[in-house]
Amino acid sequence: MKLKDLFMMNTSKNGKGSIKRKDVYFLKQKPNFNYLNSKYYKYKNYLLSVEWKEKRRLVLERDNSLCQHCMTATAENIHHLKYDNLFNEPLEDLLSLCKPCHEKEHQSPIA
Ligand SMILES: [Zn+2]
Ligand SMILES: [Zn+2]
Repeated sequence: MKLKDLFMMNTSKNGKGSIKRKDVYFLKQKPNFNYLNSKYYKYKNYLLSVEWKEKRRLVLERDNSLCQHCMTATAENIHHLKYDNLFNEPLEDLLSLCKPCHEKEHQSPIA
């Protein structure tokens, strides 16, 4: 399982950082996985931070809250074009997407 897949597990806008069914599934698959020290956990907490909320707001503002893939639906998710600068992303690394487009994005094979 790639880090990118883990990140996808909690992209819902009401993700409150709680452990969800998908997380439990993942933890069962990896019993020795140290959840609290994982990058995934840090990432989930990051999504609750003021810094992220502000960044999210700026990205949505830049994209006029419009999904940048279908250009019709209202964007609900912020997608990372890359994770190289995680926790300190420039806005160019982020893209506003609607939920269906975001899910498609993560289903497509990683080039
Ligand atoms: Zn869309
Ligand atoms: Zn994404």
